[in-house]
Amino acid sequence: MLHLMTMEETTKLKQELERTKTELGILYEISNAMRTTLKLDEILYIILTGVTAHIGLGFNRALLFLINEKEGLIEGKMGIGPDSGEEANRIWGQIEGEKMDLDDLISAYKFSSNDNNGFESGFNKQVQQIKVSLADKNENLLSLVALEGMPLHLTKETIANYRNSSIVQSLKSEELVLIPLKAKDKINGIIVADNFITREPISKDDLHMLAMLANQAGLAIENSQLYEKTVMLAHMDSLTQLWNHGYFQYLLQTELEKSRAEKAPLSLIMLDIDHFKIYNDTLGHQAGDKILTELALLLKDQSRKMDFVCRYGGEEFAMVLPQADKKEAFLIAERLRMDIEKHAFSHEDIFPTKKLTVSLGLASFPEDGLVPAELVAASDKALYQAKNKGRNNTCC
Ligand code: GH3
Ligand code: MG
Ligand code: MG
Repeated sequence: MLHLMTMEETTKLKQELERTKTELGILYEISNAMRTTLKLDEILYIILTGVTAHIGLGFNRALLFLINEKEGLIEGKMGIGPDSGEEANRIWGQIEGEKMDLDDLISAYKFSSNDNNGFESGFNKQVQQIKVSLADKNENLLSLVALEGMPLHLTKETIANYRNSSIVQSLKSEELVLIPLKAKDKINGIIVADNFITREPISKDDLHMLAMLANQAGLAIENSQLYEKTVMLAHMDSLTQLWNHGYFQYLLQTELEKSRAEKAPLSLIMLDIDHFKIYNDTLGHQAGDKILTELALLLKDQSRKMDFVCRYGGEEFAMVLPQADKKEAFLIAERLRMDIEKHAFSHEDIFPTKKLTVSLGLASFPEDGLVPAELVAASDKALYQAKNKGRNNTCC
């Protein structure tokens, strides 16, 4: 049966065609943007900008969670969205006023993150504090989506069933959508989005677009994570899992530059195992390697979060201590030395003193050196003195 379209039907069809064209254009732009970088935070920002920008999917707020399989957690990584109606008006007004498109928004972020400022909204900080267990799917919406791998659209009618969920409570949304991100067959993240400010209902089209974007996003995230892992491995010493010699040089250089800019102190500790040759000669290199691994763990455990523990080479370790002046670094070095002396390493009786001990040399910026080479030479010299003084001590 032949059916002739009415004017009305033709107009509707044309409108739908136009919308599909726009949607495809948006997806194309976002996926192109994702291909411009491998940095995870930039990828996440591009995804969320695509979800929230008016010229993108146009949601009021979007949050991105990543699955941390190792620790069995779903972790909030980034959130974009205004804290209030006034802030929404200000931000959206600015974007419209400056006629910023997706590219402009993304470049603005890259520019600010190069400055190490990142973007510091209250909402983003709030999102980064969310951590939930993957295991309790009855308790938590996020884990339900992560484990089932199914999108979830909570409407005004159904959201009440989930009012005890932490995510519904903290977002205070009336309507919410959660979409899993997939890479191959694994779920690696979740996007959550709502229209908190405008309260515009979430349409079938919105959901469809979000699902298509999520497909691209999951893959882009996986690529970026693989890349970051590779970079990390290239900087690590495979025996001790500490930073390797090459990366130590890079770290010292960059940290020194930061200290100079901030007019802050920085200290460098060189540490060498006493009489290690005897241990190796008696028990073999495999036993020696075990000691190196154990000592590396101890150094990492006992240092501050901001310190960089590196394997300088052989049985020598280097620690870069940002913000630490000589006095503070000396206390840290002495505490390390005593912890190591106290620690029970296997077959310690082989050492002349029946204990594994270390000698430490310390140098500080700016008084002992202004550039990396000067600091390394000064701490090396101090280490040599510590050995000459009979080992198991720290010299400056
Ligand atoms: P000192 O107190 O003067 O530092 O004496 P030492 O015996 O530790 O010093 P020396 O530099 O003569 O010897 C360092 C030894 O460390 C040589 C080698 O047997 C051992 N060593 C260096 N690198 C490694 C390594 O990667 N694995 C193992 N097992 N041993 C290593
Ligand atoms: Mg040595
Ligand atoms: Mg030694």
